[in-house]
Amino acid sequence: MTTPPTKICGSCSLCCKVMLVEELQKPQGVWRGHFKGGVGCSIHDSHPYSCGVFQCLWILSPTMPIQARPDRLKVVMEIDDGGKRILARADPDHPGAWRQPLVYGQLKQWARDGWPHGRTVWAMVNRHMWLISPNEHADVDVGVTDPRSPFVYQQGPDGRVSVTVLPPLAEGETYDPDATMAKAGWTPPKISIPRRD
Ligand code: SF4
Repeated sequence: MTTPPTKICGSCSLCCKVMLVEELQKPQGVWRGHFKGGVGCSIHDSHPYSCGVFQCLWILSPTMPIQARPDRLKVVMEIDDGGKRILARADPDHPGAWRQPLVYGQLKQWARDGWPHGRTVWAMVNRHMWLISPNEHADVDVGVTDPRSPFVYQQGPDGRVSVTVLPPLAEGETYDPDATMAKAGWTPPKISIPRRD
């Protein structure tokens, strides 16, 4: 059984600002809808699905100090895609916040540690995304993306990573990793396993 988080949000409400909430037609980067200054979310007990699946790393981490609370850093860090992705969403009023040494050093460390296990780390300012490189090469500026666009990433022989962004999924179309890779013209390397007979 997992230990329930013991941290509380306090006066932080930054996720309400930086997140896209499609169910409420709330764009990224703005306070709107059910957010009330000084109160926070007014529909917390009946929040939409998008808010319910959001996993704030500061809340989940027993070791992140109060100084790293999202409203103090101006960056919301979250675990996404079943743990395969870490997103650092900067407050658009402080777009360089993800580059401050305290945040960037942590993102780079997670990128290095996670890459061999298929976990990637991304910085975001509204819909602008960067893939944090797992090595000393430059991070990949992916540009402004459509939230419905799948993308694939790979590492070249020299260690550089690249990202291919595909056209947005059509209405009703669901994400299929194999189809996404085929559309991008990328075939994962085949692993040869020696016979043991
Ligand atoms: S960003 Fe994290 S700490 Fe801040 S309000 Fe959202 S869940 Fe709470």
